[in-house]
Amino acid sequence: MVDLRIRGGVAALPDGPAEADVLIDGGRILALVAPGSGAEARETLDASGCVVLPGAIDPHVHFRTPGMTDKEDWPSGSAAAVAGGVTTVLDMPNVLPATSSAEALAAKAALVEGRSWCHYGFFGGLEAGNQDRLRGLAKAGAIGFKVFLGESTASLPPPDPAGLRCAFRVAADLGRRVAVHAEDAETLRAASSAVAAPGFDLRSHGRARPAEAESRAVALVCALCAETGAPVLIAHLSTGAGADEVRRARSRGADAGAEATPHHLLLTEEDAVRLGLGSLAKVNPPLRGEGDREALWRAVADGTVTQFGSDHAPHTPEERRGDRPPSGFAGVQNTLPALLGHPRLPLRDFVRLTAEGPARNWGLWPRKGRLAPGADADLAVVRPAAPAQAVRQWSRNPDGPLLRGCPVRAEVVVTLVDGQVAYGAGQPSGRPRGRWLRP
Ligand SMILES: [Zn+2]
Repeated sequence: MVDLRIRGGVAALPDGPAEADVLIDGGRILALVAPGSGAEARETLDASGCVVLPGAIDPHVHFRTPGMTDKEDWPSGSAAAVAGGVTTVLDMPNVLPATSSAEALAAKAALVEGRSWCHYGFFGGLEAGNQDRLRGLAKAGAIGFKVFLGESTASLPPPDPAGLRCAFRVAADLGRRVAVHAEDAETLRAASSAVAAPGFDLRSHGRARPAEAESRAVALVCALCAETGAPVLIAHLSTGAGADEVRRARSRGADAGAEATPHHLLLTEEDAVRLGLGSLAKVNPPLRGEGDREALWRAVADGTVTQFGSDHAPHTPEERRGDRPPSGFAGVQNTLPALLGHPRLPLRDFVRLTAEGPARNWGLWPRKGRLAPGADADLAVVRPAAPAQAVRQWSRNPDGPLLRGCPVRAEVVVTLVDGQVAYGAGQPSGRPRGRWLRP
């Protein structure tokens, strides 16, 4: 007798989709069996017509805790996660106070404990002058480090190249990966002073953060990665030139990879202007042109991109009004519905980029990221069709370009966390049972 059988679905197995029942016991996957075969179960979940996926790991969210909880709070952000088939989130350190010391990390963990619908990990902030705190952050449980090379929302002060090299040596020694917001600060400063537009418009934002800012920063990071051996991940890659740098580094054996966001894959600046999204589509790095969008899809197909991340970063509607709106928007609930079943994304690649890739990048493999015996029973049961009616959004500030500008291709029916229903019948279910994950 086992706890649960998920029956009648198509299971997204590591080597491809297959009709299989999933047997779950004690919070773990016990076996994948031919439909109807194997041990009896105390409970059954009908997945007919659905795909059973390893729960998505969203390795790039800003749940705004502590200090910015008018934008998002942990219960609302994690409810949005499970409603989007996401069973683990990795949260960024640019909160107030920043998560750039062991003490700040411990304080943040205490705030989140018992309030999360999904599992979670925390990035430690790498900033100018805190290299000697990185060991403490790793010891306190940081899943990896995040560094901002260019300014963004509440971003941490960037180290200079010498400080970055020194920090990369520490990261290499610790075996912790560094996620990089790769826009070169000098290039941003020069470009934005040349764009002296009064008021806000999307095209000026794009001109103020040109592609060269990204390719320069990516080139520096890849060089330091090769020199120091630090594993790196270029967050929200947005340009073909940046992708070329990462591809070159990988071909020379450097442990460098890149993240793609759904918005950079699905929307151009032109699309956002045509849809009249205004400040709702303002993001760093900005939405680009069709050439860069195409190049990003090529980087997805050839393995240069090693994870998808939503860069879920909500703001309040009040903040978006006015001349200097902040950058970022919600996305953790909308990534799976916008990308699963996309004609350019075979199911195998979807699983590689939402589950396997992030699990490997952040030290969670093989317990997370795969449908296989022994893995934790974090799963999403998904109907590969648009829902009959709009799905309720759970973020405190859910609006964004994915919601406004991208077709919904799939509906999350049930999300399981540790073998228990965390989301079902259109709402979070049970109690928040998410756990803090360390590498
Ligand atoms: Zn971000």
